Amino acid sequence: MNRTLYNHLIRDYSREGRRGFNVPRREGMENAVKQALPQTLLRKQAPELPQVDEPTAVRHYTNMSTNNFGVDTGFYPLGSCTMKYNPKINEAMAASPVIARLHPAQPFASVQGALRLYWELQRALSEIGGMAEFTLNPYAGAHGELTGLMVIRAYHAGRDDFGRTKVIVPDSAHGTNPASAAVAGLEVVEVRSRADGTVDIDDLRGKLDDSIAAVMLTNPNTTGMFERDIPAIAEAVHAAGALLYYDGANLNPMLGVARPGDMGFDVMHINLHKTFSTPHGGGGPGAGPVGVRAGLEDYLPAPRVVRHNDGTFGVDCNPDDALGRISQWLGNYTVLRRALAYILSLGADGIAQVGPLATLAANYVMNALSDLYALPIPGPCKHEFVFDGLRDKSSGVTTLHVAKRLLDFGFHAPTIYFPLLFHESLMIEPTETESRDTLDAFIDAMRRIADEAATQPEQLKMAPHHTPMAHPDETEAAMHPILTWKDLTS
Ligand SMILES: *Cc1c(COP(=O)(O)O)cnc(C)c1O
Repeated sequence: MNRTLYNHLIRDYSREGRRGFNVPRREGMENAVKQALPQTLLRKQAPELPQVDEPTAVRHYTNMSTNNFGVDTGFYPLGSCTMKYNPKINEAMAASPVIARLHPAQPFASVQGALRLYWELQRALSEIGGMAEFTLNPYAGAHGELTGLMVIRAYHAGRDDFGRTKVIVPDSAHGTNPASAAVAGLEVVEVRSRADGTVDIDDLRGKLDDSIAAVMLTNPNTTGMFERDIPAIAEAVHAAGALLYYDGANLNPMLGVARPGDMGFDVMHINLHKTFSTPHGGGGPGAGPVGVRAGLEDYLPAPRVVRHNDGTFGVDCNPDDALGRISQWLGNYTVLRRALAYILSLGADGIAQVGPLATLAANYVMNALSDLYALPIPGPCKHEFVFDGLRDKSSGVTTLHVAKRLLDFGFHAPTIYFPLLFHESLMIEPTETESRDTLDAFIDAMRRIADEAATQPEQLKMAPHHTPMAHPDETEAAMHPILTWKDLTS
């Protein structure tokens, strides 16, 4: 069956008077509703909706849902984003009506179980990160960064140290780092990377003074390299009176291997929608919990879930030094539940295998392809690595072409043109959840694409050939999106 036909079905098959449902009519209901609502809110005209039968509507949405790519439909090696498989038990836990139907304003005594789960996740993340305390309130990684930087500002302000207006960020950092710093009212100072992709500690030392509030680092950094100098960096940062921030969006390779708190980091965030297998994409909902070392707990935002001495749980809405609210209520609770389900179902032993397996998978793929793809920073890597396009660039085949051709093989494209350190960045992160068969199939596809680049480059450049939509006008789609149904026949 031609899928493309179904993509346009709703538009093409809308017929005056065609219906797919029957709303039971209740005597007097329409008038009762009309009287209950303010006149200004009532429609003057019926809404313009497609008029279709039920099978048409069901087929339309079912086919649409398979036109997109998801981690449930195929391998998704998107570097820097950790698109690991999200176990279905997480979904079952989050959907449980026992929890899903709670109201955030319910009296604390009636939601003790829910608060306990929340508190347990705070404790689990503190243990995993090596931190004293975590807030689960932030909605995303970037939101966590902003929260963490606000905590750092509050810490300096609490010491009457108001001159610290800058934050140091490496040139390889994720774009949200400088953005969050700017939103937090801090000026960004960039620190150079060395040829091996790690932070140039001499350049960093030269930039540390009493105007620096914090240094933000990602470890392993955005090129997938482990920063070996963290203890020395932490010492220099602390000697200058600044705090060390850990961007733990990609904590995955560290699970079971090392803890940011033990390395000397003061504040960190974690992306639950990357490392802890909660859904990711489409703009959320996500969660970016923030952890702090001992001594900074009081600056975390409110509200906080606490355990009282008698073993009951409560919500502290107005701790003295807290930042105040950075989210509605306690954050994205159903996302938090998924993460806790993941942690508890793996257990301490399972969690400890995540980092090593993710690292093994990344090195396996890297080594199997580095004869054909340029590897500017030789491994071993951690959970991800960056190719700088094909080794042989004479055919004019770029990273964009490789990425589009991969879609024909049923694989999502890796991250492309990021990090900005290389012209043809192709950033691959397989994660620990893929079988060796899947990794081998991906390697085969990548090798075949390199072969096509040599033998039939012009055809390769026209890819993808087999996706439901091949060559959308990306600019037009961004500038003039059509997001609602319009009756084009009349
Ligand atoms: C994804 C990511 C972020 C931002 O997380 P969001 O949830 O997308 O805001 C920050 N830093 C790094 C290293 C990341 O990979």
